[in-house]
Amino acid sequence: TPAPLLVALRSRNVKVGMMCLFPKRLFQMDADVLELLQIIANQIAIVSENALLYEKTRSLSLHDHLTGLPNRRFLQLEIERNFAKSKRYKTNLSVLMLDIDNFKQFNDTNGHIAGDTLLADIARIILREVRETDLAARYGGEEFLVLLPETKFQQAFEIAERLRISIFEKTSITVSIGVSSFSENLQSAIDMINDADRALYAAKAHGKNRVEGIYRQLPAEK
Ligand code: GH3
Ligand code: MG
Ligand code: MG
Repeated sequence: TPAPLLVALRSRNVKVGMMCLFPKRLFQMDADVLELLQIIANQIAIVSENALLYEKTRSLSLHDHLTGLPNRRFLQLEIERNFAKSKRYKTNLSVLMLDIDNFKQFNDTNGHIAGDTLLADIARIILREVRETDLAARYGGEEFLVLLPETKFQQAFEIAERLRISIFEKTSITVSIGVSSFSENLQSAIDMINDADRALYAAKAHGKNRVEGIYRQLPAEK
């Protein structure tokens, strides 16, 4: 059998792949055949490059470039999906909202570059502390949100406490964390985020460097 033919796929002179052809029988390779192959290869190359570009752009639009974590948009999609699942199957779901204490002061003292490095360090610590099935996202400037599927309020609170201690041990920086959990009387994922936000606000009001939580029990049946 004839040897395979390899044609490089280039789009705007960037190599995007190879096309490999396996001729069934020997044939005369001439300028016409070559030209035809080149036309086909060019078309495939353009399509491939567009597909790669699309994936890259999509990923960039859903991730934060400083920490590499998913961003707020990505998280919003995921939390809605998880909330709907919890409502449907009555599974547990919790959320942590973490905010660095006195970060403005840190920036003022150490500079913005050091502040950026700290953000990236904290992102790494969060990733190390949570499970692979959890989702950590950069929610705002110095705010991180962690989505904890299949996790009860009490467990989430313990994870938050562990995280707070771990961040302090590794960076000497304190953080405050608000915890909230799915409850059947919540209407949407936004309610969970709002609860975590209010809990975080309470943690700040109670002196920072602490975890506070809000868990709405169903009203007792009469
Ligand atoms: P609190 O303890 O109440 O949370 O006070 P704080 O100073 O942490 O909070 P505040 O909201 O007053 O300030 C947040 C600071 O976070 C101000 C802003 O410059 C800084 N910040 C936000 N995003 C970034 C970033 O991407 N890089 C750096 N270096 N700083 C950031
Ligand atoms: Mg903040
Ligand atoms: Mg802060």
